[in-house]
Amino acid sequence: MSTAFFTHADCRRHVMAPGHPECPARLDAIEDHFLATGLADVVVRHDDAAPARAEDLAHAHASNYVGELDEIFARAAREDALVAVDPDTTACAHTRQAALRAAGAAVAATDLVIDGRAENAFCAIRPPGHHATRDAAMGFCFYNNVAIAARHALDVRGLRRVAIIDFDVHHGNGTEDIIANDERVLMVSIFQDQLYPFSGNVPQGDNMLNVAVPPYTKGAEVREIVEYQWLPRLEKFRPEMIFISAGFDAHREDDLGMLGLVEADYEWITERIVALAARHAGGRIVSCLEGGYNLGALARSVAAHVRVLAGV
Ligand SMILES: [Zn+2]
Repeated sequence: MSTAFFTHADCRRHVMAPGHPECPARLDAIEDHFLATGLADVVVRHDDAAPARAEDLAHAHASNYVGELDEIFARAAREDALVAVDPDTTACAHTRQAALRAAGAAVAATDLVIDGRAENAFCAIRPPGHHATRDAAMGFCFYNNVAIAARHALDVRGLRRVAIIDFDVHHGNGTEDIIANDERVLMVSIFQDQLYPFSGNVPQGDNMLNVAVPPYTKGAEVREIVEYQWLPRLEKFRPEMIFISAGFDAHREDDLGMLGLVEADYEWITERIVALAARHAGGRIVSCLEGGYNLGALARSVAAHVRVLAGV
């Protein structure tokens, strides 16, 4: 069984603003590093997943929000201009296709893994998704890729319980907004306290385990949280599939956060998730890129993560 690597050329055409950290070069850095280290030959590449359909988006987003976003996307395309959606988030002429391909890749990866045609999958996609709420784009996110994929596994593919694990340095407020009190989902996360989007201290549902950590928290403390807080809850929940909001901006070298994770920590966390998936979920994992803005640290951290997924 193999590890699938999903990406799409359209995901590189979405540009937020000149010099913005959430940039197409992020995906290039990942792919360059995969080529240079031989990891590109280990994973099975999928770069032609269909765009997400309206019914996919409807699993996580309100129809009026999808409609409003379509109008913004149409305006950006018509004027070939950057259109601000929120103070941190802008759409360009190509954002609609990028966002639909990103969510579509997450859905296709979910189908591939559930069908047993790959053991697990990593989606190198952008725009990211975990700040997109049911009815708002924010924090560089438009469609919530992971929430859409998780709901697809439940509502279309008939799974009964799925876990969402979010280790981005920022709280996954959008995912929480969408899946809070959906008892078929357990979301566990770790994020830097009092950092954008300044939420997460009060969980919005009993199915959320939010762990806020102070600036300068390092890998040893994060591993303890994984071991003693995440894993007992996840073991009890017995997920049939695991989705990962894989942000790598908690890396020591990333300037958007102030945490101290390094490649070895991402490797260790991924090992624990793989072991959990083997025990409960038939190994099924779909991991989707969220943040990670220092290009070198991002590429090395994604490689550390995917190497464990691929068992090499
Ligand atoms: Zn982030």
